[in-house]
Amino acid sequence: MAATFGGRESIQVDIVEPVTEILLNCHELVIQSAVLRNEALALGGSIELLEEDQRARISLDGEAAPGPWVLDIEFTGILNDQLVGFYRSTFTDVDGMEQAIATTQFEATDARRAFPSWDEPDFKAVFSISLVIPEDLFTVSNGPEVGREPAGEGKVAVRFADTMVMSTYLVAFAVGPFEATEPVDVDGVPVRVITPRGKLGLSQFALDCAVFAFRYLRDYYEIPYPGLKIDHVAIPDFAFGAMENLGCITYRETALLVDPETASQSELVRVLDVIGHELAHMWFGDLVTMRWWDGIWLNEAFASFMEFKSTDAMRPEWKRWLAFAAIERPWAFGVDSLESTRPVEFEVESPSEANEMFDALTYGKGSSLLRMIEQFIGEEAFRQGVGNYLRRHAYGNTVTADLWAGLNSASGQPVGEIMDTWILQRGFPQLEVVPAGNGIKISQRRYLTIPDESDQTLWQVPVQTRQLGNSDATEKFILKEPEATRDFESANGVIVNAGGHGFYRVRYEGGLFSALVEKLGALDDLERYMLIDDTWAFVESGQQSAADYLRLASAYRDETEPAIWGAVLGGVAAIGHHLVGDEHRQPFASWVSDLVGPAFSRLGWEPRSGESDLTRRLRGQLIGALGRLADDADVIARSRKLVELIIEDPRSIDPEIARASLFVTAANGSETEYRRFFEQYKTTSIPHEQQRWLLALSAFDEPDLVVETVEASLDGRIRTQDSAWVIGATFGNRRNGHLAWQQVRREWEAFLKLPTMTQRRMVEAIPALSRPEVAAEVEAFFAETRLPHAAKSVAQNLERLRANVLLRQRETEAVARFLENSP
Ligand SMILES: [Zn+2]
Repeated sequence: MAATFGGRESIQVDIVEPVTEILLNCHELVIQSAVLRNEALALGGSIELLEEDQRARISLDGEAAPGPWVLDIEFTGILNDQLVGFYRSTFTDVDGMEQAIATTQFEATDARRAFPSWDEPDFKAVFSISLVIPEDLFTVSNGPEVGREPAGEGKVAVRFADTMVMSTYLVAFAVGPFEATEPVDVDGVPVRVITPRGKLGLSQFALDCAVFAFRYLRDYYEIPYPGLKIDHVAIPDFAFGAMENLGCITYRETALLVDPETASQSELVRVLDVIGHELAHMWFGDLVTMRWWDGIWLNEAFASFMEFKSTDAMRPEWKRWLAFAAIERPWAFGVDSLESTRPVEFEVESPSEANEMFDALTYGKGSSLLRMIEQFIGEEAFRQGVGNYLRRHAYGNTVTADLWAGLNSASGQPVGEIMDTWILQRGFPQLEVVPAGNGIKISQRRYLTIPDESDQTLWQVPVQTRQLGNSDATEKFILKEPEATRDFESANGVIVNAGGHGFYRVRYEGGLFSALVEKLGALDDLERYMLIDDTWAFVESGQQSAADYLRLASAYRDETEPAIWGAVLGGVAAIGHHLVGDEHRQPFASWVSDLVGPAFSRLGWEPRSGESDLTRRLRGQLIGALGRLADDADVIARSRKLVELIIEDPRSIDPEIARASLFVTAANGSETEYRRFFEQYKTTSIPHEQQRWLLALSAFDEPDLVVETVEASLDGRIRTQDSAWVIGATFGNRRNGHLAWQQVRREWEAFLKLPTMTQRRMVEAIPALSRPEVAAEVEAFFAETRLPHAAKSVAQNLERLRANVLLRQRETEAVARFLENSP
């Protein structure tokens, strides 16, 4: 079957001055005809495709006078396999049959691959969409279906309701063997989940989340939903997590379809988060849209921020704001601590620059900055400011300053002035805290993983302080100067970044650090999180030693929050990966066992009735640490047996234990086990279970298996939407990750054929390759080889790799001595 399509469009245009040619966006399309007509005249024209510029030039046969005209265009295009524009994806359905779908992904600049258009966010228009499709297929678009008539040859023409005035990148349509839930009427708005045929049974959790998040967000904004209906559509091949097309939100399957019986908390939370994120965009992004792609950061940052608001409201017991600090913020810190970072907002000219905006700084730093300012000005003032901004600019386009104006007037604080120092400057500060008189002196300087004393950047830092014990009242102020002093009854036990919402690091000196460690129990969750996470950052930048970190980690033995354990174990795992050689593996393993063992003994293998979801999650986490970092023989043997039971019946095992067992077994696994895991990946139809088997493949550490995982990612045995991150995960293997890298190098041409938007996932894993000889090879390779869609990411991850090589050189010896001397 030829993967092609044909189209016709009529665009209403207002011509404001006499013209003889028309330029519009057009990419990988062929235009058969273009006619500009009004009531009196029809002007044909010759068409020139300017592929380089992704444009078409229509040279009219005469001059068009100012006034209203209609531009009729006939065109054809290809259904590509790059997961952008109007693309085709094939998949095996639940009955083992090969199926194909055609669907769209237009953001940032790929609507021009589906229809000629002025494909820029501030050319908003109403879209009237009709599709002619085989009559046995399902179709969906932004508006509800309003008409259907036979079109001959087994085809049917389906007409959808007009959209609201919106940008081209939000247009969507999909055709294929889908099925839909019955619509749920949510205060007048029909909501459905649409899945590939046979997967409707996995849609209930998504539907519940979609209904909750919709109501929550509408009430938060106090603005009615601007569309006519909302469909949430699961797509078998998808480059991103999801896409906020108005009323027709598309998702990769793991972000929407889930079996709550076998899903771990993290797998459930992903569905809840992504739905919250996309629905937040229906107002912020779709109703009010950035004028140009340099504003994409605010669009994504805001949706990421609102996603946590909405999920925290639905499941407060999941402590989403603690998770936010443990996911979004470290992701952003990781990139923003590099010299090669970029400002959150910067000039964007080309489509590839626009695509590079979808990174840790846009999502992670942007949302962390919004959380910081929201907590500083107060949640209600923030909500009012956002609502005012959306009402004022509804159906229009904005720049960042428009939101600040809304927040300024709602809060009476100079939000724009503060935020400019964070979004227009690269990086973030570290605050240094020393005793001064009765109180403390706080100074600021830029935090860099590879420090640069000459950097003089200053920020307007929203600081919150409190003194533990004596008074829990927090004090807020903006630190604009290089340093400031604050009075307290005593410097000991003063916490800076109280509440833990600030996007900065805090380093306590002169005995203040140990005073806080002694009072660890008096810190709240986020503050305990920040203390360990900041300490690791100071190890990475050579300001504290890895041995200091390990000593601090021991103080967290009684911790009960999985997010905080995640930070503790993250640093420990990094030490194990970069700093512990084979000859010290045994003492390292027993040190980890000492750290984790008591917490695991308290929980045991058997979940208790009434246990919280987070406690169950912690159990899985501790099993993972014991099996992969502590090399615990009992845990490994037990995990192996559990894997057999999971294969027989996935519902027979607690999901957290099941997930952990898979990774423990894989990390210690044989070739026979590898084959079984692969078989499970191929035959499981539940997306999150399939995803687990797939990701676990990357943990097998035998040389041949590492190489095979890369080969399977490149020869089609693994779906191309997943290939790049599977390869990246394989780099993380302690002993043989470098073999994965060498295999990618050898098969570079095949790697380049992966969907370009996904290639960055491999690049992001490069910092794991810190053995000096391997790192040198990576550097040399990228000195010769350009990866145009990920140029910035390559530079950033090479810098991070360099920092890891330095860490290795600086700390390996000291960690060895620490381990030799630890009991
Ligand atoms: Zn988004």
